[in-house]
Amino acid sequence: MINRESLQEAARFLREHDRFLVLSHVNPDGDATGSALATAMMLEALGKEYIVANEGETPKKFSFLPRFHLLRNLSQQPLNETFSAVIAVDCADRSRMGNVEALFAPGAALLNIDHHPTNDRFGSVNLIDPEAAATAEVLFELAQAAGISFHEELALCIYTGLLTDTGGFRYANTSPRVMEIAAKLLTYGVKPSEVAERCLEEITYSHVKILRRALQTLTLSHQGKIAAISVRQKDFAETGADREDVSGLVNYCRNIEGVEVGVSFVEAEQEAVKVSMRSRDLVDVSAVAKQLGGGGHKKAAGCTLRGDLEQVKKQVLQILGQAVGVKEDA
Ligand code: 5GP
Ligand code: MN
Repeated sequence: MINRESLQEAARFLREHDRFLVLSHVNPDGDATGSALATAMMLEALGKEYIVANEGETPKKFSFLPRFHLLRNLSQQPLNETFSAVIAVDCADRSRMGNVEALFAPGAALLNIDHHPTNDRFGSVNLIDPEAAATAEVLFELAQAAGISFHEELALCIYTGLLTDTGGFRYANTSPRVMEIAAKLLTYGVKPSEVAERCLEEITYSHVKILRRALQTLTLSHQGKIAAISVRQKDFAETGADREDVSGLVNYCRNIEGVEVGVSFVEAEQEAVKVSMRSRDLVDVSAVAKQLGGGGHKKAAGCTLRGDLEQVKKQVLQILGQAVGVKEDA
């Protein structure tokens, strides 16, 4: 658990400023989105003004969250304003916020709220708990420390972050504290079956179409310890799928019996490839991601690399091969 001084310092940050910019990371997930909206509601409770934004689009699957319509997509609706107080949630480093530097007033104060062990403490105030399962868990503690009353909408945003970052309370980060907080949130009216349906169960038809194609590329290597899957730009174009539709593909790789590391390679625009890695037990994929300029957690990490997909795949598989202790593909 985070120490009380850090919580008090972050609570003071919220009280000290009047107008805030709240940002989460590029390609936001359930924790990033739930945490950004929970922060927005906490600021509302304190009578503050805010803009909540993301560099890009937030997946529509999270549109059930309260205040979703306030989330500004900066690539489509640029802001003509600078902020002297910025809050970053679920961002392990500055670059995760995307291209947002122009929105910072000179000497802007920056509150960095996160749970990634790879967080480099880029804020002027840092509230980081690497033991927290989700940034949403840190926000639960912050709301309490700041004396903010919980209500159903705030509870729903925090619950969504907890649910999605623990893979539906299944991953190793599902601690007693997570269950305690989740139970508390239900008392404010959160309906767990409805949130699970929206976040975990429901899939789009375009997801099924791109899954069908991606599974055809699935390969096992390194004595069955590594499974890889690839998605190309033309797969998006021909199935109508978007980035959100491919976010869970890597789990099909990791879940195969005997596999230690699952990895997906998703071709992005401008000769870049988004690499997602998931580990079963042995390998700390955050170390591999960090080595490649990315970051994450021991069992879930990622990075974006320049180059053609096959080249990137070769480079990453070589490093992962060393990590699983199998040098040559056999
Ligand atoms: P995913 O593979 O689902 O995109 O991300 C898995 C985990 O790794 C998440 O915790 C995410 O925040 C982190 N991650 C993914 N890509 C990057 C990256 O490029 N840089 C950093 N620092 N973390 C990343
Ligand atoms: Mn998170």
